[in-house]
Amino acid sequence: MLRGLRRLHRFEKRILEIARSDEKLVSIHQHGFSRKTEGGFRFPIYGLSIGTTSALKKHPVGIVAGVHGLETIGIRILLDFLYHCLNNPDFFPEIHKGKIGIHAMPMVNPGGVALRRRSNPAGVDLMRNSGVEAEKSMPFFGGHQFSNRLPYFRGKGLEPESRTLYRFVYESFFHAKDSLIPVIDVHSGFGSVDHVWWPYAGTKEPCRDDALFQAMGRFFRIQAGHSQLNFGPQSESYTTHGDLWDLFYDHYWKLHEKQKKWKSRFLPLTLEVGTWSDLKEKPGRMFNRKNIFNPDSPRKRETIERYRKFLRDLFRTALTKEKDWSLG
Ligand SMILES: [Zn+2]
Repeated sequence: MLRGLRRLHRFEKRILEIARSDEKLVSIHQHGFSRKTEGGFRFPIYGLSIGTTSALKKHPVGIVAGVHGLETIGIRILLDFLYHCLNNPDFFPEIHKGKIGIHAMPMVNPGGVALRRRSNPAGVDLMRNSGVEAEKSMPFFGGHQFSNRLPYFRGKGLEPESRTLYRFVYESFFHAKDSLIPVIDVHSGFGSVDHVWWPYAGTKEPCRDDALFQAMGRFFRIQAGHSQLNFGPQSESYTTHGDLWDLFYDHYWKLHEKQKKWKSRFLPLTLEVGTWSDLKEKPGRMFNRKNIFNPDSPRKRETIERYRKFLRDLFRTALTKEKDWSLG
């Protein structure tokens, strides 16, 4: 646990540094606690809000990472992005001009980071934990109820980390009016290509915003120069039980579907940074389990910079309307 704790503290230190770097534009919140470890630790789950009060309310966008404790490249991408938004005013001027506000949860599963494992301290895979039943999930990998000693365990009921994330998403994004609301969850480790997925993970049924997502995907690939990214519904890659974003997305629509004039669109996306391509160059790395999920140093920097621009371009979607995308 010690090495994992050191890593956790390095990330926490960076979160606090970002919070201190601009007291007018940044606020830090503690949204909840992790599940207790066997040694009795409970780790705080932090959130950072960046932007003016009115921008955070009118045009909020979101980024979360660290849902899986081993996928620390996502936490780095997130922290690097926030740092650049604040310290390089030309990079994302909409933040400084009060047009867009970012709600971030940099480490959803701090206990997993400290213990150096994918699951939370109770052995639950948070992305299998929502209780949503998939139509035809992949056996085992798609989530199971056998034992918390095996990966991809679904758990029983929402874990504290899942509830904390849900409350954060609900409070930050569910009530914003007349805005497109992109919210991205950064992961790593599936295959050698980079994916950007939208709902659903649990069914191949298209979600109600499928046409809008498709148009956005085409735009980012072809016109915005992010051709390395593969866009699609998550179930196109694989189907799983218990995806939290499936649950949040359906709750969002349950809340708003009866309001005829509801123009906002909650657009959850999962960015899966493909890192398996490293293994071809250095097969020895395969024996170190954490390296499968994280590219090594020069690659790490390059990856982080590549995503910085994509995140900014994605968040600019907040200032567009659904009809702007209809000809996509
Ligand atoms: Zn993941």
